[in-house]
Amino acid sequence: MKPFTYVVPTSLAEAGAAAAQPNALVKGAGLDLVDRMKERLQTPERVVNLLPLKDELAGIAADATGETRIGALTTLMQLQGHDDLQGPAFRALVQSASTTGTPQIQHRATVAGNILQFTRCWYVRSEAFHCLHGGRGPTCLAMTGNNRYHAVMGWSDCVRVHASNVAPPLLALGAEYTTVKGDPDHGGTVRRRKLAELFPPVPRAQLAEHTLEDGEIVTAFHIPKQPEGVRTAYAESREKQSFDWATTACAVRVVMDGGTITAADLVLGAVAPNPLPRPHAARVLVGKKPSAKLFQRAAELAFQGAAPLAHNAFKLPIGKAVVRDALEQATR
Ligand SMILES: Cc1cc2nc3c(=O)[nH]c(=O)nc-3n(C[C@H](O)[C@H](O)[C@H](O)COP(=O)(O)OP(=O)(O)OC[C@H]3O[C@@H](n4cnc5c(N)ncnc54)[C@H](O)[C@@H]3O)c2cc1C
Repeated sequence: MKPFTYVVPTSLAEAGAAAAQPNALVKGAGLDLVDRMKERLQTPERVVNLLPLKDELAGIAADATGETRIGALTTLMQLQGHDDLQGPAFRALVQSASTTGTPQIQHRATVAGNILQFTRCWYVRSEAFHCLHGGRGPTCLAMTGNNRYHAVMGWSDCVRVHASNVAPPLLALGAEYTTVKGDPDHGGTVRRRKLAELFPPVPRAQLAEHTLEDGEIVTAFHIPKQPEGVRTAYAESREKQSFDWATTACAVRVVMDGGTITAADLVLGAVAPNPLPRPHAARVLVGKKPSAKLFQRAAELAFQGAAPLAHNAFKLPIGKAVVRDALEQATR
């Protein structure tokens, strides 16, 4: 590992100022970041440990308007155990956290770190390979190489997938996120944006996997008040029962009124470089009563236009089953 300065801030202002220095990175639990630093895939001069700021940046609370704030440093275990998230509206979020890695990982991993984790593509994560996304060559080797775990849609010059479990349900719930950059009390900025804006609108190999500016720290995620009758569910496929990332995933949010779906959102995970909202698949559900035929139609639409690679066409039938599973759970 390349030597670096380790910053242990005592306030968000101090963290913001340190993160704004050149070649600085912030760290949550470090499960992903430290791994990449050990491999020399990331060589920051300064690492700002956010964990001392848990009082400010962790925790879950609903405000008077019914909006739920989830602090960026909230762990996935805290997410699944919190009383405010036990109802049908947040079920997808709880399910996505409880199926992440292992309980040990869930106890450490932060929500922000989970969403901002680097892709698992084995070509970019090994210095031994040329890789356009990693800045080590002119092409995406995964496109023609071993691409079993790679994208089946939404890709152009890089076939990595976005691996986060927690991002699809938060997107389906219409979440927003806030950031600070610099010291907010001395000319720094605080911004709030839709979670969808955290991902590049057109993911490309030579673009970062998120749209945060250098030095910007995510402080919280915000879920708007959900209407009466809202239900969510998350389902995924993976090769191992535990200790594994998803091969396909789906989060759905439906609003039910007397047995009819009156609104719907559907977001795929692990199949594209970004978590992928599929509004045309969700639209077909609206105004209808749940049925196996309807869910099959939504699943087909969710994967419409898919362009699988040589080794990952298996993701299509499995992904469609995962969409049906999520819809069945949400409307049961
Ligand atoms: C064996 C194993 C299995 C796993 N399985 C899954 C799985 O099934 N599903 C899944 O989704 N994940 C899985 N993971 C990944 C794991 O969930 C992530 O590595 C973890 O959530 C990262 O969180 P962290 O707090 O450690 O982030 P860090 O490693 O600390 O940070 C990750 C990235 O986010 C940035 N970052 C962190 N916090 C902030 C912030 N507040 N503001 C701005 N930038 C920030 C860091 O700079 C870094 O680039 C698995 C990991 C392992 C080791």
